[in-house]
Amino acid sequence: MVLVYSDNKKITIEILSKASEIAKEQKKKVTAVIIGKPDENLAKEYISYGAEEVFIAETELESFKSEEYSDILASIVKETGTETILIGSNKNGKELSARLGGKLNAGCVVDSNNIYIKNNKLMAERVVYSGNAIAVEQFNSTPAIITVPSKAFDSLKKDDSRKGEITKKKIESEKSKSKILKAHEMKSEGTNVEDAEIIVSCGRGFKDKGDIKLVQELADILKGKTVGCSRPLAADLKWLSEEHWIGLSGHKVKPKLYIAAGISGQIQHIAGMRDSGIIVAINKDPEALIFRSADYGIVGDLYEVLPKLTDAVKAKMG
Ligand SMILES: Cc1cc2nc3c(=O)[nH]c(=O)nc-3n(C[C@H](O)[C@H](O)[C@H](O)COP(=O)(O)OP(=O)(O)OC[C@H]3O[C@@H](n4cnc5c(N)ncnc54)[C@H](O)[C@@H]3O)c2cc1C
Repeated sequence: MVLVYSDNKKITIEILSKASEIAKEQKKKVTAVIIGKPDENLAKEYISYGAEEVFIAETELESFKSEEYSDILASIVKETGTETILIGSNKNGKELSARLGGKLNAGCVVDSNNIYIKNNKLMAERVVYSGNAIAVEQFNSTPAIITVPSKAFDSLKKDDSRKGEITKKKIESEKSKSKILKAHEMKSEGTNVEDAEIIVSCGRGFKDKGDIKLVQELADILKGKTVGCSRPLAADLKWLSEEHWIGLSGHKVKPKLYIAAGISGQIQHIAGMRDSGIIVAINKDPEALIFRSADYGIVGDLYEVLPKLTDAVKAKMG
């Protein structure tokens, strides 16, 4: 069995497509797991995206605690004889996968963006050394655990005619010894670069915080309206919040259009946006690395190019 779990619906749906591919090769079934309230509509949605079975582990647990959730998943894995476990690689998923690996004495590869079968072995690739190399890892034992970041795989097309089984079961878990005393909601401006279809990004080529309005103006007239940035602008200069930070240690994005202005194109930035559809780079240095990743390159001063580009887009879009 190939088991898929994430507390994030979108990631679960994306992983289901890769799980279906692996399950087909292994001649196994794809099972999505829901932990918590028995949400049948969600279960049906997972089936429409490729799950052949949805296992609802009914619990009274109110909040995520990796000790309890890993206990529940470990019971399901043992009961079903699951061989491959794919977990969404968000904060909870990473914590969960490590504990689950410990409980099951299983191998665990984190943040994999390529999973396949080679010579009957499950393989998982992940980016290492700040994006300078790709580690190819082979599992020699089961169960195998792999965490998958958002946007690593495209979801299957939703098909409501897909059929699947829904199994509900109350599962007791070991009680966690930890206690959540207080939860603070993270302050958010509502910027979501990860889901944006168009991103206009700025880097250290900008001389002043106020100049960011040049990217904002271009972003505003484009449908996406989303501004991104390189690490120095968010982490060092603090001109923009971390919600805008793109790259290896920031957000991974996959927009249809990514415009990078005044960004040199160091590997750590590229690691976060290399899967973008069309990449346009604006840089005054014709040798800038960013041009190697760009589909279109504009060599010029961003202070001249951006206003002209904004006017041209405005004229085109009416
Ligand atoms: C472990 C690790 C993790 C990291 N994670 C990230 C990450 O997640 N995201 C990230 O972005 N970086 C990350 N970095 C940092 C990364 O290595 C680079 O330092 C950073 O991306 C550089 O940002 P930049 O391109 O804005 O600045 P610079 O490298 O300084 O580039 C500025 C560019 O602007 C151009 N320019 C200057 N003036 C103009 C002008 N008037 N018009 C047009 N072009 C102009 C210059 O030619 C230059 O190419 C990480 C580094 C490490 C070691």
